[in-house]
Amino acid sequence: MDFSPSPLSQAMQARLQRFMDDLVLPSLADWHRWADAGCYPLDVLEPLKAQARSLGLWNLFLPSLRADQPGTRLDHLDYAPLAEVMGRVPWSAEAFNCSAPDSGNIELLQLFASPAQRERWLDPLLRGEIRSCFAMSEPDVASSDPTQLRTRIARDGDHYVVNGRKWFITGAAHPLCRVALVIGCSGEGGAPAQEDQRHRHSIVFVPMDAPGLVVERNIPMLDHHALEGHCELVLRDVRVPADQLLGEEGAGFAMAQARLGPGRVHHAMRSIGQCELALELMCERALERRAFGGRVGDFANVQDWIAHSRLEIDQARLLVLRAAWKLDREGPAAARIDASAIKLVTAQMQTRVIDRAIQVFGAMGLSPDTPLARMWGWGRALRLLDGPDEVHLRGVARHELARARARGAANALHLRRWLPPATS
Ligand SMILES: Cc1cc2nc3c(=O)[nH]c(=O)nc-3n(C[C@H](O)[C@H](O)[C@H](O)COP(=O)(O)OP(=O)(O)OC[C@H]3O[C@@H](n4cnc5c(N)ncnc54)[C@H](O)[C@@H]3O)c2cc1C
Repeated sequence: MDFSPSPLSQAMQARLQRFMDDLVLPSLADWHRWADAGCYPLDVLEPLKAQARSLGLWNLFLPSLRADQPGTRLDHLDYAPLAEVMGRVPWSAEAFNCSAPDSGNIELLQLFASPAQRERWLDPLLRGEIRSCFAMSEPDVASSDPTQLRTRIARDGDHYVVNGRKWFITGAAHPLCRVALVIGCSGEGGAPAQEDQRHRHSIVFVPMDAPGLVVERNIPMLDHHALEGHCELVLRDVRVPADQLLGEEGAGFAMAQARLGPGRVHHAMRSIGQCELALELMCERALERRAFGGRVGDFANVQDWIAHSRLEIDQARLLVLRAAWKLDREGPAAARIDASAIKLVTAQMQTRVIDRAIQVFGAMGLSPDTPLARMWGWGRALRLLDGPDEVHLRGVARHELARARARGAANALHLRRWLPPATS
C-alpha cells in the first residue's frame, strides 16, 4: 500500500496552504463579525470563491468530473490531504466548492441525474452559484434505520406529491440553498416484506421555493445556531413534475449509499485537520502557561494527553488514507466497512483530542475566544450525523463475524482442548 500523495496533490497542497495563509486566515475576524450578527458571511465567502476558482482551487474532490466540468479530478487519496488543510478552518471548504452536503449531492447527481437535471441542478452546483441540502431524517422515526421513513412521494399523473416532515437538514438555511433532495417512501402503503423495505424509497428534487415547503426552524446545536442551518422542514402537498425524480423509483437507498463513501473521507480528513490544530494549540498553551512553579506542559498528565493525541491522530490518518486508497482502487462497495470505520474513529477522536485541549486551556477553552468549544461540538455532532456510532460499530462487527463464519475451524488447533492426543 502506498499512500504518498502524487506530485500534483503535493503541488495543490502547497497552493491551498498559501491560499489559507494569505486569504482565509486574514478573513477570520470578518467572518466572525458577520456570524456573531447572525448573518451568513456571503460578503466574505463570495470574493474568496472567485479567487479560489481563478487559481484552480475549485471542486477539488470529484475524480469523475467530465471534460466540460470545472475542477481538478484528483482521486480520493490525493484529495484527502487537501481536506485536512481545509478542516483547520471548517467554513473554508465552501470557498473551494468542497463543502458538505453539496459535495455528496454533487456525487449523487454526477452518477444518477438525467441530462436535464444536470443542467438545472448539477451545473450551477459545480459553478458554486447555488447550494443544496439532503433531506432524509424525520422526527417520528429512528432515522438510523431509514427503512422506516414516512415521508410519502406519491405519483399523481405527471407529478409527484410529497408529504412529510424532515429535521436536522444541514444547509437548508443557507441563503443560496435552492434545492432539497428529499428521500421518501414511494411504494404502496402497509407493512412491506423485509426484502422490499430497501426498495420502496425514492429521491426527488424539491425547489426550496416550491409551494407547500416550509422551513419551520433552524434547530440549535448545543448552544448555537449553525449559520447554514440544521433545519426542520415541512412538506405539505408539494407537487414536483415527474421528471424531478432522481434515477429510478424505489432506488433511493441504493443511490443514497453511493454518496456516502467519499463524503466520509472528506469529513474524516477535515476532523483530522481540526484535531491537528487543537493539538498545536494545546502544546503552545502548555509551553506558555505556568502553574505551581512550572509550565503546564511539565505535568506528566498533560504530556500523556499530548502524546496520546499525536498517536491517535496519526493512526486515524493512516486508516482514512487506507480507506481513500481502497475507494480509488476498488470502489465504494468494497470500501463500505472502511468508510464506516473512519467515520466512527475520527468522530470519537475529535471529541477526545479536543476535550484534552479544552482542559489544558482551562476556562478559556470553553469560551468563543478559542475555536475549541465549537470544534468539540462539531465532533459530538459527527457521532450522530450520517449514522450514530453504534450503527457503524454494528457494521464493523457483523463484517468480522462473517469473516469468522467463513474461516470455519481454521483456528481450532490454537485451542489446546482440541489438540490431537500426543502419540508416545
Ligand atoms: C449536526 C447534524 C446534522 C445533520 N444533518 C442531516 C442532514 O443534512 N440530513 C439528514 O437527513 N439528517 C441529518 N442529520 C440527522 C442524522 O442523520 C440523524 O440524527 C442520525 O441518522 C440518527 O438518527 P436519529 O437522530 O433519529 O437517532 P435514532 O435513530 O433515534 O437513534 C438514537 C440512538 O439509538 C441507538 N441506536 C440506533 N440504532 C442502533 C443500533 N443498530 N445499534 C445500537 N444502538 C442503536 C444509538 O445510540 C442512537 O444514537 C443531522 C444530525 C446532526 C446532529
